[in-house]
Amino acid sequence: MFDEALNDRSVCIIGAGMSGLVCGMKLAKAGFKVSVVEELASPGGLCAYTRIGREYLELVPHHIRKSDKALLSLSKEMGVDDKIKWFDTAWSGRASIRKVGYFDSGYACLISSLIQFITDHGGHVLFSTTVTEITALSASSILPGYRTTCILTNSTRYVIDSKYLIFTGSCRTFLNISHNLNIPMDFRDIMMNISYKAGISALMVLKKPTTEMYSRKAPEGLPFDRIIGHSAAFGQRGYGGHVVYLTGTCSITDNIWIASDSDIMQQYFSAFRKLYPSLRKSDIKSYRLSKTRYAFAEKYPEIDLTNPCEDLYVCASGLTSSQAEGSTSIPKNRLDSVIRLAGKITSEIIGRSGSQNSLPHPDITDLAEYI
Ligand SMILES: Cc1cc2nc3c(=O)[nH]c(=O)nc-3n(C[C@H](O)[C@H](O)[C@H](O)COP(=O)(O)OP(=O)(O)OC[C@H]3O[C@@H](n4cnc5c(N)ncnc54)[C@H](O)[C@@H]3O)c2cc1C
Repeated sequence: MFDEALNDRSVCIIGAGMSGLVCGMKLAKAGFKVSVVEELASPGGLCAYTRIGREYLELVPHHIRKSDKALLSLSKEMGVDDKIKWFDTAWSGRASIRKVGYFDSGYACLISSLIQFITDHGGHVLFSTTVTEITALSASSILPGYRTTCILTNSTRYVIDSKYLIFTGSCRTFLNISHNLNIPMDFRDIMMNISYKAGISALMVLKKPTTEMYSRKAPEGLPFDRIIGHSAAFGQRGYGGHVVYLTGTCSITDNIWIASDSDIMQQYFSAFRKLYPSLRKSDIKSYRLSKTRYAFAEKYPEIDLTNPCEDLYVCASGLTSSQAEGSTSIPKNRLDSVIRLAGKITSEIIGRSGSQNSLPHPDITDLAEYI
């Protein structure tokens, strides 16, 4: 068991998706000691990417809208705004042509610049580290705060003590790991009521082009909901073929969710062939299937759940429509919304720590001077 140092400007952030990395960057910039812990072996969360040919590409399709002001301003802050290119893209349905943006080198450029910023400012990002429990440090400890208990892939236990804690995964996971915290029961009940749809996305690299549309709703009865012609809009780049995504949502009780990856791929490809009969299996150069248990929150909570206890914050996409968008019944799962929520939460933490007569960043070994 290792112990991380505790000081009154220390923050532990659970999750290295966009929310966690933006919180980490903003707090590192404000002089906080930042520790980000991520259960997966790589960053990005829902916006995670993989190497395809000579490029990095998201496992589920992403694009930028002109209205994504927070995302555009973050890209500028991180110096990657010049990598965004805008394209006229064809969509099925009423608004047939829409201008959407995409990074020259994928979202990987933004994600890696955030990680670089955090580490350049003394923070660290730990991968393959699963948080299993968060508990409150007693008021009698040197500084009250939180203890985050993690398990590494080799089963080693790792503990991080911090004054502030930000959780960025699903509301369900938060409830599972926070049962020892003193969170009011009605608060827990409302959070428990936020149910999630799961998501399945097949990224295929094809030898020949199929769709000319960027986004097309799939006909009823197919196992996926939408066909995204990534290369139809953004080109072949260095992928070594034409990239198409098939995306669907489901419940975890549906047969498709429990099927094996090869069965899902078989079902997806057979359904795709109904739309493009000349396509053969041998036309697939490579594919990646990704399943996301908590892809879309289905219900927006009646009260603000982002700050369940003092100095503890939940920055989850399921809670995002409390922001400027006004209240809607379904949370907006968009990067722009989570970046805005991360900005609001970090401003609150910076404001609180400024008004709490801060100590100047001691390590645990230095604390004796302040006692
Ligand atoms: C199919 C699909 C398409 C989308 N397309 C777009 C788009 O085109 N444009 C757009 O703006 N948005 C899009 N989005 C939404 C966007 O991807 C999300 O809003 C955003 O990525 C959410 O980021 P996040 O950091 O809040 O959450 P996540 O990305 O879910 O990150 C949370 C992280 O926390 C980690 N974690 C959870 N529990 C633990 C634990 N116990 N211990 C350690 N780590 C933990 C997870 O592994 C994960 O990495 C899309 C989403 C989906 C599903």
